[in-house]
Amino acid sequence: MDINIFNTLSSKKEVFTPLVKNKVGIYNCGPTVYDTVHIGNLRTFVMYDIIRRVFEYNEYFVTQVMNITDVDDKTIKRSQEKKISLEELTRHYETLFISDIHSLNILTPNKLLSARDHIKDMIEMISILLEKGIAYQTKDGIYFSIGLSKDYGKLAKLKIEATDTHTLRERISNDEYEKENPRDFALWKFYTEEDGQVFWDASFGKGRPGWHIECSAMAGRALGPTIDIHAGGTDLIFPHHTNEIAQSEATYDKHFVNYWIHGAFMNVNDAKMAKSKGNFYKLADLENEGISPLAFRYWLLTSHYRSQINFTIEAVKGAQTAFIRFIETFIRLQDISAGHEYEHVHKALEPRDYKKDFLEKVNDDFNTPEALALAWELIKDHTVEAKEKVILLMDFDKILGLGLHAVVNIQKEEIPTEVTVLAEAREKARENKDWEMADAIRKEITDRGYDVNDTDKGFTLKKRN
Ligand SMILES: [Zn+2]
Repeated sequence: MDINIFNTLSSKKEVFTPLVKNKVGIYNCGPTVYDTVHIGNLRTFVMYDIIRRVFEYNEYFVTQVMNITDVDDKTIKRSQEKKISLEELTRHYETLFISDIHSLNILTPNKLLSARDHIKDMIEMISILLEKGIAYQTKDGIYFSIGLSKDYGKLAKLKIEATDTHTLRERISNDEYEKENPRDFALWKFYTEEDGQVFWDASFGKGRPGWHIECSAMAGRALGPTIDIHAGGTDLIFPHHTNEIAQSEATYDKHFVNYWIHGAFMNVNDAKMAKSKGNFYKLADLENEGISPLAFRYWLLTSHYRSQINFTIEAVKGAQTAFIRFIETFIRLQDISAGHEYEHVHKALEPRDYKKDFLEKVNDDFNTPEALALAWELIKDHTVEAKEKVILLMDFDKILGLGLHAVVNIQKEEIPTEVTVLAEAREKARENKDWEMADAIRKEITDRGYDVNDTDKGFTLKKRN
């Protein structure tokens, strides 16, 4: 079945066609490890995980690559504030990041690349760009001339007057800047005393890379020069991904990325998350509020990744209640399918193909809210046996990642066949309105230590404690 992806580049849903049959290379912009990631970042990482799992479910051989930004303006500044080495700071937050993604059942990317391990690749790209005359040197570093770039800003749909950029040559050395003002950006920042021990030697001068060239170099090295999928949060469309395209395409003269996927923003209490507003949450803060990481994941899956969402503690607690019911129902279904409880199934003449329906939802631009709703429909479907439901739910969980594989089936004694036969005989008696017989059989059943209860769907059998 086709996988349809909303491609930011074309602003359209497109059928995915891989570069190599049955294989997919995915590059994900990873964390800047200068602090613990917040729940907005975690939404993006859950999105990456869903994308990867959907491809694996479709039997693709997936190479998911994520970078760890362990050298940039923010990491250097923070390590100096804390008076520790860049190495010590970034390794610490990288460890915390890995622990957070594990708590959320996010599969570890196949390759986690450290920016500091790829400086050589960055220097090589910058040298090519200098040779081609697309990069130029100033007093404080090497800059990329966006006026000489083909289609600069095509991803962000920016309107650039080439002559403006040529004549003005406005530059920006900060890694992050505003959309309103595209400018030539730094590929390499020459060493200043503020950089302390952080520098590398290059033929064009001692210094350190800009943030944008890091991802271009790592993506190119691991998957390039042309990549199937590149993903990130919408905040990365400009300048980060815009600059990545410009650098990579100017260096290699090849189309950089076929499908760009961007996850929408998360507000907290109807406002942009900010430490100053007191609406800044990390995973540990949720746990302090009594919210489990997997309940947070469940809540994330109830919205489509391209919808902006609003986080409130109440909303996630509501989702947690549903999540607990989901898990409890799953345990009960396991119980029933193990023969610990009798079940009545009215098999449908034309059974619904849940697996196919599920695949349709997830392959339609990773529609997790509909996939989750389908799982609930399955749970409530009286025409499907518990055993079948357990198998299907376990299968769906390969994508949903709600930890069903870890839900331990509590082993109980099976209901003996003669008790089941008695209960069925009683049901027949009740259908024939032979109440006397029905009561007599009930007594037989209770004498054997079992309780029979009538429900609108038939009866249940349970061993008395
Ligand atoms: Zn990146």
